[in-house]
Amino acid sequence: MCCCVTRTSPYVLALFLSLLLPAAAGSGASLAGSQTPASAPAPALAGEWHITDRLGRFHTAVIRRQGAGFRIDGEGIHFELKGGGNEYSAEAPIDRATLVEAGVPAELVEEVVRRAVVRCTFSVHSDGATIDYTIHNPLIQFGRNEEGELVILDVVNGGASSGSGVLRRVPPLNRSLGDLHPDFRKKVDRWLKRLKEEKIQLVIGETYRSSERQARLYEKGRTLTGEVWAPAEVVTKALAGRSPHEWGLALDAYPAGGDGKPVYDVQSDAKMLEVMTRAAELADEEGIYWGGNFPGNFVDYPHFQDAGWRKIQARYPSGWQPSRPGASSH
Ligand SMILES: [Zn+2]
Repeated sequence: MCCCVTRTSPYVLALFLSLLLPAAAGSGASLAGSQTPASAPAPALAGEWHITDRLGRFHTAVIRRQGAGFRIDGEGIHFELKGGGNEYSAEAPIDRATLVEAGVPAELVEEVVRRAVVRCTFSVHSDGATIDYTIHNPLIQFGRNEEGELVILDVVNGGASSGSGVLRRVPPLNRSLGDLHPDFRKKVDRWLKRLKEEKIQLVIGETYRSSERQARLYEKGRTLTGEVWAPAEVVTKALAGRSPHEWGLALDAYPAGGDGKPVYDVQSDAKMLEVMTRAAELADEEGIYWGGNFPGNFVDYPHFQDAGWRKIQARYPSGWQPSRPGASSH
């Protein structure tokens, strides 16, 4: 229902690649874009973002400071950003998987990656929520040699394509037990004590989640209009306002593996599933319901929620939030 997101999504920054695909496949359409000059305050770039491509599909990008500039990381693509304020430029090789998907023969992929570079510039609008971008596409010309083998004849600068995207910050994950609703917290404390007595070690993944974060999680794998385009990316079925996490009435927890690190894939590990099942029995005795017991395909193994969460939620028709989110570590 409101599964936990602790890993970086596998798609990411296909924003640029999806725009560049037609060129990589040989069409090289050219659109000289007129850009709205950006002005005024630039948002603090570091953090996790959702960016839409021209089809309105959301992609996840993680931006970190690197030296004097920034770096964008996504699955299979890494951009180093140059620039500052609202204007940035970046260069990156083409993602291998994208080339294969586009029909580039496997034996030519490495050569394409070596020779072709994607250049992009973008400007962040002063609203901090939209960007204009221009992608400079390499144009790869394939042909056959005298032996009839497919070869790369040339890599030249293709046309530029421009567009706009929606930019949304994904608020960071909160693991603080101190930010749970006090009613739920009491139950959780009793539960954790009993887990300790049985030497069951769980790692807390996420506790309170703001409605803004819930809204961002809902976007993963979806488009601006809410359609699913990347089913593997979907992490929640709950729109903002529908998850008990938003009232501090749920938490996600994972069994700890031998190294003390969380085991995310409980389902395919019989021993870990057994640990979770026992943890869930103890939870049940404290008035905490386990997502592993959700019916049908709603099953959410790491998820635990107050068994009476809807009653508590009803006391806060206009929402609930901890007094100082993230202020206490435990
Ligand atoms: Zn959850």
